[in-house]
Amino acid sequence: MSILQFEPFSSQIDGTFWEKLGKLKIDYYKLDDSEKEIYGYYRGGERANDSVTALPARLFLSSGSFDKEHASFSVVSPGILKNTNTLNEFKDLDKNAFLKNASSKIWEAIKDGSVIDQPQLLVQFGLITFADLKKYKYYYWFNFPCLLPKNPFTYTKSQYLPEIYSESQLDQLKQAFHDFYDKAPNCNFFLYKSNGHVFGKLNEWSTFWSNTKDDQAWGVRHITFVDNGKVSYSNPVRQPLFTFEDCLDGGLPKAKAAAKRLSEVFPGVKAAGYDVSIPMPGHLVDAEIVTRANVEKLEQMVEDHDVVFLLTDSRESRWLPTVIGAKYKKIVINTALGFDSFLVMRHGMREIGENVDTRLGCYFCNDVVAPVDSLTDRTLDQQCTVTRPGLSAVAAGLAVELLASICNHPEGPWAPADQNVSVSDSANSTVLGVLPHQIRGFLSHFQNLVLVGAGYNKCSACSDPVLQQYEQDGIDFLIKAMKDSNYLEKVAGLDQMKMESENIDVDWDEDM
Ligand SMILES: [Zn+2]
Repeated sequence: MSILQFEPFSSQIDGTFWEKLGKLKIDYYKLDDSEKEIYGYYRGGERANDSVTALPARLFLSSGSFDKEHASFSVVSPGILKNTNTLNEFKDLDKNAFLKNASSKIWEAIKDGSVIDQPQLLVQFGLITFADLKKYKYYYWFNFPCLLPKNPFTYTKSQYLPEIYSESQLDQLKQAFHDFYDKAPNCNFFLYKSNGHVFGKLNEWSTFWSNTKDDQAWGVRHITFVDNGKVSYSNPVRQPLFTFEDCLDGGLPKAKAAAKRLSEVFPGVKAAGYDVSIPMPGHLVDAEIVTRANVEKLEQMVEDHDVVFLLTDSRESRWLPTVIGAKYKKIVINTALGFDSFLVMRHGMREIGENVDTRLGCYFCNDVVAPVDSLTDRTLDQQCTVTRPGLSAVAAGLAVELLASICNHPEGPWAPADQNVSVSDSANSTVLGVLPHQIRGFLSHFQNLVLVGAGYNKCSACSDPVLQQYEQDGIDFLIKAMKDSNYLEKVAGLDQMKMESENIDVDWDEDM
């Protein structure tokens, strides 16, 4: 008999949640700090193909959390929001009482039987916040209460359903689940999970193309493109450097075609294109010799250039250029697109051994797992897919202008991040204005937010241990890390952290 354990949630709050909270506070709540009903959406943890690396179970909050709308890829979890009026109130609030109140609601729902019709009442959460709307700083504290019986729940063993049931039994089970789900779409448990769909790949490449024309206007003269794709018929309308001609006969290699077309726009440019695929952690490679050659090539290219724009269409393909860029202290500008939102950020610069608290983070600094294959088994919300057509041009323009502002700051890429400053405020750190760390844009609301993210001392791409190991073992380290994301987590210290967090006795009564 083993003790059945509860998997703790990782909280993930989208920027839109804070934006909406700010609006509600100003227009509607005002000084009312009574508890409000909100809704989170969660997904269970996921294991990768190697069955060891995993994404934790996540509870999401976004602007939709204030309404009872339901995203189909996740399950609803009701929550209580307590938004305090001052930072001191936030700090002084009796969190124990707040937590007890939340957990007693679960118990009440069990006793009065309402969990039968509304099983989501078994998974509730509490959130205490303080929103500093002048400085755009948000403080928050989550609690995820769970019941702790005197004698813990136990189980004999866990088994996959196909090992227990015949195919026809499984079909019946699936049918019964569908019938049940149709009746109660917000039910809080899954019996099975279908495989992820393969969606059309996002074409963030259009970002690159739009970028390059803007770069020309700022006087950039040497540009190298890296890509392993070919120009397809759907490309020219979105990616202004390509023409219909480039698509004929199976299409020209994108990187080479782009370099050629850029030279036509401005003959003074020295543009080159390399048909190279970027090796990625978690993806099986055909032959190590090819990977090694590509890593060497990429390392050389990063070393030879001053700035790297990361515009690829997956998270893990950004890892290698991020690490190499951190080692060679290059300006790395990262652009990532969602359907109607985007992120443009500069990676923080740092020396090994420098205090992490004082530096800016990179794209991977918020992760608690090393990058793994994110393309094979992800749902639509997690993949780069289709975007609004204007989005890449907006993000691309900002990426180029971010570089221009870095170059105009006395401290260059080492400059600290400017926070949100009113446009009427003339206090600027560069002749061009402020120099932010991250810009998150929301085309749905035609708004951009300027945000800062600190460096993380266990980051899988820019932390001391990772850079030291890279310094010591060179390309061998990179290849080993890409073959085995567990190794990368070990080097970064993420495995230790995960182990510690798994071993914590959940003392929810006291201080969860
Ligand atoms: Zn980092």
